[in-house]
Amino acid sequence: MSVKSIVLYPEDKEILRAKCRPVKSVSSWVRQLAQDLVDTLNHHPEGVGLAAPQIGAHSRVVVVRLGGGPGSEREPDAPMPLINPTIIEARDERRDFDGCLSIPGLYGETVRPHYLRVKGLNMAGRVFDRVFEGFDAVVVHHELDHLEGVLFIDRVESLEYLYRVVEGDDGQLVRIPLTPVTRSE
Ligand SMILES: [Zn+2]
Repeated sequence: MSVKSIVLYPEDKEILRAKCRPVKSVSSWVRQLAQDLVDTLNHHPEGVGLAAPQIGAHSRVVVVRLGGGPGSEREPDAPMPLINPTIIEARDERRDFDGCLSIPGLYGETVRPHYLRVKGLNMAGRVFDRVFEGFDAVVVHHELDHLEGVLFIDRVESLEYLYRVVEGDDGQLVRIPLTPVTRSE
């Protein structure tokens, strides 16, 4: 396991809870941060997004891999950086699959917009304004949450929407519900 993959699961979970600041410009430092995120995500082909706090930085930079997700027939695209991303419009909320490289082995279902219009800067420092739809919108929304210190487990409405995924005897992936919490009443 590379050093870069270890920082995804910081011992100090507060690193994931801090709010991130916008960058003033797309400086060489910001481009390097974005490149580090791209490189780190490329180490994790199972991941479709990564945000700066997950590698210990608190600037508003994320990377996303579009075109993937459950049921997708193809490999998602190469990681694309979004710098200072801001939501302009969010609608069409639906329940969908969720998971996080910083919370390995745990998955859930969350309600997120499936139509998301976001404005921000690209690596060249130019303004972009684009619409993400379907699972792409879920991925972008998940990463933007990280910039506010919000994790997907915060959005899971109840334990029944949280599960682990393990490989069964036949090699198929199966969902294992979390053991219900024993209540002392
Ligand atoms: Zn995440």
